[in-house]
Amino acid sequence: MKKDTLCIHGYKHKTDKTGAITVPIFQASTFVYPEVNANAPYCYTRLQNPTREAAEETVAALEGAKEGFAFASGMAAIMTVMELIPPNSHVIATEDLYGGSIRLFNTVCINRNIEFDYVDTADIAAIQAKIKPNTRAVYVESPTNPMIQITDIPAVKTAIQGLDILLIADNTFLTPYYMNPLALGADIVIHSGTKYLGGHSDTLAGFAVLNDDALRTRLRTLHKSIGACLSPFDSFLIIRGIKTLALRMDKAQANAMAIAEWLSAQPKITSVNYAGLPTHKGHEILKKQARGFGAMISFETDTPQTAREILNRVSIISYAESLGCVNTLITIPTLCTHEDVPPEEREARGISDRLLRLSVGIENAEDLIEDLRQAIG
Ligand SMILES: *Cc1c(COP(=O)(O)O)cnc(C)c1O
Repeated sequence: MKKDTLCIHGYKHKTDKTGAITVPIFQASTFVYPEVNANAPYCYTRLQNPTREAAEETVAALEGAKEGFAFASGMAAIMTVMELIPPNSHVIATEDLYGGSIRLFNTVCINRNIEFDYVDTADIAAIQAKIKPNTRAVYVESPTNPMIQITDIPAVKTAIQGLDILLIADNTFLTPYYMNPLALGADIVIHSGTKYLGGHSDTLAGFAVLNDDALRTRLRTLHKSIGACLSPFDSFLIIRGIKTLALRMDKAQANAMAIAEWLSAQPKITSVNYAGLPTHKGHEILKKQARGFGAMISFETDTPQTAREILNRVSIISYAESLGCVNTLITIPTLCTHEDVPPEEREARGISDRLLRLSVGIENAEDLIEDLRQAIG
């Protein structure tokens, strides 16, 4: 089945006796055993629930994975996956990583004495230079947030081939509709389902999908033991959200392309980062690895004042955190998502107070451009 069909038919759950065409919300914590010693598929919802199972099967099918696990948030997925990394080991991560992941690594994961090195993972030599005998994972995000940098995932895989190092990819920005990192060499793929998979800013969710049998067994144990699993109702919202994933992604991407081109021609906009622009540094690499460029843009204004005025003046576009929903959202990384990053480090990475990040939604492109035009002034 093609991706857009899998969005609708990605789970095995069959219509029940009532003929309900959607997966019912099995709002039950426990399930009655049919008989003593029966091998019941469901016994307790922390272990498995039919609604959550359908959400997991859908994301796994879209990623081409043997198994998927649904979590209460993206951070819950990342935290649980990081428990696979043994204490006293070393992890190399993309420097331009989601801010919450950096906070998790530097405040929680370090308690098991895991050491992190943050590098520009677009630079394979930089990764190689950091590999140590106890390196156990390379953690990548591509495109990155907010600089939209692209990592060559198969090249990272080649660089760590034969070493006991897991390649973990956060695929939130491109979604399984546009990219499948497992097929590119990743061992584990993570999603914040809160973003494009849910798509409507009405729920939090996270996913981890993988193929390796031994890792699956370990992650299954961690998932049920830690218990940060997705509720039946939120699983239902994710299943419902994914039904329109293909439509939403294609529309958001077309809007993003139109906006990126328009922004590039504005005198008060000094640079535009969008992977779909042929001038973008990672454009050709992404073209080989993915079926689309997504709908995340960042751009720099001429002055900090212009950036702030845009935030104050937008009317269709909302000044809000998060991304990947039907609404177009704009944010200023220095004040929101990257507030915790020290100013010198932010500057070195190009995250200035003139940088804005746009998560393009599915409104009409002309309306969005008109809103930006009046906001830029
Ligand atoms: C939002 C986000 C997360 C965290 O997910 P939550 O659902 O907010 O916990 C992780 N990675 C990326 C790339 C994100 O955008």
